[in-house]
Amino acid sequence: METQPAPRKTHFSDYLKPQQVVFDLKSKDKVEAVEELLDVLAKQKLIDNKKLLLTRIIDRENLVSTAIGSGVALPHARVDSGGEIVVAVGRSEKGIDFDAHDGQKVHLIILVVWNPSLPGLFNHLFAGLARFLIRAENRGRILAAKDKAELYAILSEIEFKFVHEEKIVSRAILLKKLQEIELKKKKGTKDQQKELQKHAAMIREELDRDLVSRFDRLMERYGFAVADAVDGVCQGCNINISTQMYSVLEGSNDIYVCENCGKYLVSAKKKKK
Ligand SMILES: [Zn+2]
Repeated sequence: METQPAPRKTHFSDYLKPQQVVFDLKSKDKVEAVEELLDVLAKQKLIDNKKLLLTRIIDRENLVSTAIGSGVALPHARVDSGGEIVVAVGRSEKGIDFDAHDGQKVHLIILVVWNPSLPGLFNHLFAGLARFLIRAENRGRILAAKDKAELYAILSEIEFKFVHEEKIVSRAILLKKLQEIELKKKKGTKDQQKELQKHAAMIREELDRDLVSRFDRLMERYGFAVADAVDGVCQGCNINISTQMYSVLEGSNDIYVCENCGKYLVSAKKKKK
Protein backbone atom coordinates (compact mmCIF):
# COMPACT_ATOMS: atom_id res chain seq x y z
CA MET A 1 0.00 0.00 0.00
CA GLU A 2 1.28 3.45 -0.81
CA THR A 3 1.40 5.89 2.03
CA GLN A 4 1.81 9.06 0.00
CA PRO A 5 -1.44 10.99 -0.37
CA ALA A 6 -2.76 10.82 -3.91
CA PRO A 7 -2.19 14.04 -5.85
CA ARG A 8 -5.28 16.17 -5.80
CA LYS A 9 -7.11 16.39 -9.05
CA THR A 10 -8.23 19.60 -10.60
CA HIS A 11 -11.18 18.84 -12.87
CA PHE A 12 -14.46 17.05 -12.37
CA SER A 13 -13.65 14.93 -15.43
CA ASP A 14 -10.73 13.46 -13.45
CA TYR A 15 -13.36 11.72 -11.33
CA LEU A 16 -16.29 11.46 -13.70
CA LYS A 17 -16.31 9.34 -16.84
CA PRO A 18 -19.19 9.47 -19.35
CA GLN A 19 -20.32 6.00 -18.21
CA GLN A 20 -21.02 7.47 -14.77
CA VAL A 21 -23.58 9.93 -16.10
CA VAL A 22 -27.31 9.25 -16.46
CA PHE A 23 -28.88 11.71 -18.86
CA ASP A 24 -32.46 11.24 -17.67
CA LEU A 25 -33.12 9.28 -14.48
CA LYS A 26 -36.09 6.91 -14.54
CA SER A 27 -36.61 7.17 -10.79
CA LYS A 28 -39.40 9.18 -9.27
CA ASP A 29 -38.25 9.40 -5.65
CA LYS A 30 -34.95 9.99 -3.91
CA VAL A 31 -34.31 6.46 -2.66
CA GLU A 32 -34.89 5.06 -6.14
CA ALA A 33 -32.69 7.74 -7.67
CA VAL A 34 -29.80 7.02 -5.31
CA GLU A 35 -30.18 3.31 -6.08
CA GLU A 36 -30.25 3.97 -9.83
CA LEU A 37 -26.96 5.86 -9.57
CA LEU A 38 -25.40 3.17 -7.37
CA ASP A 39 -26.39 0.59 -9.99
CA VAL A 40 -24.45 2.57 -12.56
CA LEU A 41 -21.37 2.50 -10.31
CA ALA A 42 -21.79 -1.21 -9.58
CA LYS A 43 -22.01 -1.96 -13.29
CA GLN A 44 -18.74 -0.07 -13.83
CA LYS A 45 -17.24 -2.14 -10.97
CA LEU A 46 -16.46 1.04 -9.07
CA ILE A 47 -18.29 -0.17 -5.97
CA ASP A 48 -18.99 -3.62 -4.59
CA ASN A 49 -21.05 -2.79 -1.52
CA LYS A 50 -24.18 -1.27 -2.96
CA LYS A 51 -26.48 -2.26 -0.10
CA LEU A 52 -24.26 -0.71 2.56
CA LEU A 53 -23.80 2.44 0.50
CA LEU A 54 -27.52 2.82 -0.07
CA THR A 55 -28.18 2.54 3.68
CA ARG A 56 -25.44 5.03 4.55
CA ILE A 57 -26.51 7.54 1.94
CA ILE A 58 -30.16 7.41 2.94
CA ASP A 59 -29.28 7.62 6.66
CA ARG A 60 -27.29 10.72 5.93
CA GLU A 61 -30.07 12.10 3.74
CA ASN A 62 -32.62 11.61 6.50
CA LEU A 63 -30.44 13.55 8.92
CA VAL A 64 -30.25 16.70 6.81
CA SER A 65 -31.22 16.84 3.15
CA THR A 66 -28.21 17.16 0.86
CA ALA A 67 -30.22 19.27 -1.55
CA ILE A 68 -28.34 22.56 -1.73
CA GLY A 69 -31.20 24.45 -3.33
CA SER A 70 -32.01 25.54 -6.88
CA GLY A 71 -32.64 21.98 -8.01
CA VAL A 72 -29.31 20.41 -7.03
CA ALA A 73 -28.61 17.60 -4.52
CA LEU A 74 -25.33 16.01 -3.45
CA PRO A 75 -26.14 12.74 -1.68
CA HIS A 76 -23.02 11.18 -0.24
CA ALA A 77 -21.45 8.68 2.11
CA ARG A 78 -18.05 8.27 3.61
CA VAL A 79 -17.27 4.61 3.05
CA ASP A 80 -14.08 2.88 2.02
CA SER A 81 -14.84 1.96 -1.56
CA GLY A 82 -11.28 0.92 -2.37
CA GLY A 83 -10.44 3.99 -4.43
CA GLU A 84 -10.19 7.58 -3.30
CA ILE A 85 -13.52 8.93 -4.50
CA VAL A 86 -16.34 7.67 -6.68
CA VAL A 87 -18.97 9.87 -8.28
CA ALA A 88 -22.07 9.44 -10.41
CA VAL A 89 -24.29 12.13 -11.87
CA GLY A 90 -27.96 11.90 -12.73
CA ARG A 91 -30.16 14.47 -14.37
CA SER A 92 -33.92 14.37 -14.00
CA GLU A 93 -36.12 16.19 -16.44
CA LYS A 94 -39.22 15.92 -14.26
CA GLY A 95 -37.44 16.56 -10.99
CA ILE A 96 -37.33 14.54 -7.77
CA ASP A 97 -38.44 15.55 -4.30
CA PHE A 98 -35.37 15.75 -2.02
CA ASP A 99 -36.85 17.75 0.87
CA ALA A 100 -34.86 20.78 -0.25
CA HIS A 101 -35.02 23.82 2.04
CA ASP A 102 -36.25 25.96 -0.83
CA GLY A 103 -38.98 23.43 -1.63
CA GLN A 104 -37.75 22.97 -5.20
CA LYS A 105 -37.56 19.62 -6.92
CA VAL A 106 -34.10 18.36 -7.76
CA HIS A 107 -33.01 18.10 -11.39
CA LEU A 108 -29.33 17.34 -10.88
CA ILE A 109 -28.03 14.70 -8.49
CA ILE A 110 -24.32 14.32 -7.88
CA LEU A 111 -23.65 11.24 -5.80
CA VAL A 112 -20.31 11.04 -4.02
CA VAL A 113 -18.67 8.16 -2.16
CA TRP A 114 -15.32 8.98 -0.63
CA ASN A 115 -12.69 7.25 1.36
CA PRO A 116 -12.50 7.84 5.13
CA SER A 117 -8.73 8.26 4.89
CA LEU A 118 -9.18 11.45 2.88
CA PRO A 119 -11.24 13.75 5.09
CA GLY A 120 -10.48 17.01 3.30
CA LEU A 121 -11.34 15.77 -0.15
CA PHE A 122 -15.09 15.95 0.14
CA ASN A 123 -15.05 19.59 1.24
CA HIS A 124 -12.79 20.44 -1.61
CA LEU A 125 -15.04 18.71 -4.11
CA PHE A 126 -18.17 20.14 -2.54
CA ALA A 127 -16.80 23.69 -2.70
CA GLY A 128 -15.87 23.31 -6.36
CA LEU A 129 -19.25 21.89 -7.31
CA ALA A 130 -21.16 24.50 -5.33
CA ARG A 131 -19.10 27.31 -6.86
CA PHE A 132 -20.07 26.14 -10.34
CA LEU A 133 -23.68 25.24 -9.61
CA ILE A 134 -24.51 28.39 -7.69
CA ARG A 135 -24.62 30.17 -11.03
CA ALA A 136 -28.07 30.02 -12.60
CA GLU A 137 -26.51 30.18 -16.03
CA ASN A 138 -24.60 26.91 -15.45
CA ARG A 139 -27.63 25.13 -14.02
CA GLY A 140 -29.68 26.31 -17.00
CA ARG A 141 -27.17 24.84 -19.42
CA ILE A 142 -27.23 21.50 -17.60
CA LEU A 143 -31.00 21.35 -17.79
CA ALA A 144 -31.06 22.40 -21.43
CA ALA A 145 -28.46 19.83 -22.51
CA LYS A 146 -29.75 17.92 -25.53
CA ASP A 147 -27.96 14.66 -24.91
CA LYS A 148 -25.51 12.88 -22.65
CA ALA A 149 -22.46 14.08 -24.58
CA GLU A 150 -23.45 17.71 -24.14
CA LEU A 151 -24.22 17.17 -20.45
CA TYR A 152 -20.86 15.51 -19.92
CA ALA A 153 -19.05 18.33 -21.70
CA ILE A 154 -20.65 20.90 -19.37
CA LEU A 155 -19.83 18.89 -16.23
CA SER A 156 -16.25 18.48 -17.42
CA GLU A 157 -15.78 22.25 -17.18
CA ILE A 158 -16.08 22.15 -13.40
CA GLU A 159 -12.74 22.98 -11.85
CA PHE A 160 -11.47 22.39 -8.33
CA LYS A 161 -9.22 25.23 -7.32
CA PHE A 162 -7.11 25.19 -4.23
CA VAL A 163 -8.02 28.36 -2.52
CA HIS A 164 -6.80 28.40 1.05
CA GLU A 165 -9.53 30.61 2.40
CA GLU A 166 -12.55 29.02 0.83
CA LYS A 167 -15.85 30.64 1.39
CA ILE A 168 -18.05 28.43 3.49
CA VAL A 169 -20.83 27.56 1.11
CA SER A 170 -24.20 26.05 1.72
CA ARG A 171 -23.40 24.55 5.10
CA ALA A 172 -25.46 26.69 7.45
CA ILE A 173 -28.26 24.13 7.79
CA LEU A 174 -25.73 21.43 8.58
CA LEU A 175 -24.00 23.50 11.26
CA LYS A 176 -27.33 24.39 12.83
CA LYS A 177 -28.29 20.73 12.89
CA LEU A 178 -25.00 19.89 14.61
CA GLN A 179 -25.78 22.39 17.34
CA GLU A 180 -29.28 20.98 17.74
CA ILE A 181 -27.83 17.48 18.16
CA GLU A 182 -25.14 18.59 20.64
CA LEU A 183 -27.73 20.37 22.78
CA LYS A 184 -30.09 17.37 22.70
CA LYS A 185 -27.22 15.08 23.62
CA LYS A 186 -26.78 16.84 26.96
CA LYS A 187 -30.30 15.94 28.03
CA GLY A 188 -30.63 12.51 26.44
CA THR A 189 -30.52 9.04 27.97
CA LYS A 190 -27.47 6.88 27.37
CA ASP A 191 -29.04 5.14 24.37
CA GLN A 192 -30.18 8.43 22.90
CA GLN A 193 -26.73 9.87 23.43
CA LYS A 194 -25.17 7.02 21.52
CA GLU A 195 -27.49 7.56 18.56
CA LEU A 196 -26.99 11.33 18.64
CA GLN A 197 -23.24 10.87 18.83
CA LYS A 198 -23.43 8.88 15.60
CA HIS A 199 -25.40 11.63 13.92
CA ALA A 200 -23.02 14.31 15.16
CA ALA A 201 -20.04 12.35 13.83
CA MET A 202 -21.69 12.10 10.43
CA ILE A 203 -22.00 15.88 10.23
CA ARG A 204 -18.61 16.65 11.76
CA GLU A 205 -16.71 14.60 9.23
CA GLU A 206 -18.06 16.54 6.31
CA LEU A 207 -17.54 20.01 7.70
CA ASP A 208 -14.26 21.82 7.46
CA ARG A 209 -11.94 20.98 10.36
CA ASP A 210 -11.27 24.61 11.34
CA LEU A 211 -14.98 25.33 11.29
CA VAL A 212 -15.70 22.42 13.63
CA SER A 213 -12.95 23.23 16.11
CA ARG A 214 -14.15 26.82 16.28
CA PHE A 215 -17.69 25.49 16.77
CA ASP A 216 -16.51 23.37 19.71
CA ARG A 217 -14.74 26.29 21.34
CA LEU A 218 -17.86 28.44 21.08
CA MET A 219 -20.07 25.64 22.44
CA GLU A 220 -17.78 25.22 25.42
CA ARG A 221 -17.64 28.90 26.14
CA TYR A 222 -21.23 30.00 25.55
CA GLY A 223 -23.26 26.79 25.44
CA PHE A 224 -24.12 27.54 21.83
CA ALA A 225 -22.19 28.46 18.72
CA VAL A 226 -24.71 29.25 16.01
CA ALA A 227 -26.98 32.27 16.22
CA ASP A 228 -29.85 33.23 13.98
CA ALA A 229 -29.87 36.58 12.26
CA VAL A 230 -33.40 37.91 12.61
CA ASP A 231 -34.49 41.24 11.16
CA GLY A 232 -30.90 42.42 11.02
CA VAL A 233 -30.10 41.48 14.62
CA CYS A 234 -27.72 38.74 15.80
CA GLN A 235 -29.69 36.63 18.28
CA GLY A 236 -26.42 35.65 19.95
CA CYS A 237 -25.65 39.14 21.24
CA ASN A 238 -28.70 41.25 20.29
CA ILE A 239 -26.56 43.67 18.35
CA ASN A 240 -27.42 44.93 14.88
CA ILE A 241 -25.51 43.33 12.05
CA SER A 242 -24.04 45.68 9.47
CA THR A 243 -26.51 46.30 6.65
CA GLN A 244 -23.95 45.08 4.18
CA MET A 245 -23.52 41.73 5.90
CA TYR A 246 -27.22 41.28 6.48
CA SER A 247 -28.01 41.80 2.82
CA VAL A 248 -25.74 38.95 1.75
CA LEU A 249 -26.78 36.76 4.67
CA GLU A 250 -30.52 37.04 4.25
CA GLY A 251 -32.06 33.92 2.78
CA SER A 252 -28.65 32.36 2.18
CA ASN A 253 -27.40 28.99 3.37
CA ASP A 254 -23.87 30.25 3.90
CA ILE A 255 -22.16 30.69 7.24
CA TYR A 256 -20.93 34.04 8.49
CA VAL A 257 -19.33 35.17 11.72
CA CYS A 258 -20.91 37.90 13.87
CA GLU A 259 -18.51 40.83 13.97
CA ASN A 260 -19.57 41.59 17.52
CA CYS A 261 -19.81 38.27 19.41
CA GLY A 262 -17.92 35.97 17.09
CA LYS A 263 -20.64 33.34 16.89
CA TYR A 264 -21.62 31.73 13.65
CA LEU A 265 -24.45 33.61 12.06
CA VAL A 266 -27.04 31.96 9.89
CA SER A 267 -30.07 33.36 8.19
CA ALA A 268 -33.41 32.76 9.87
CA LYS A 269 -36.92 33.34 8.70
CA LYS A 270 -38.30 36.74 9.56
CA LYS A 271 -40.24 37.13 12.78
CA LYS A 272 -43.95 37.48 12.26
CA LYS A 273 -45.04 40.93 13.21
ZN1 LIG B 1 -23.49 38.43 17.70
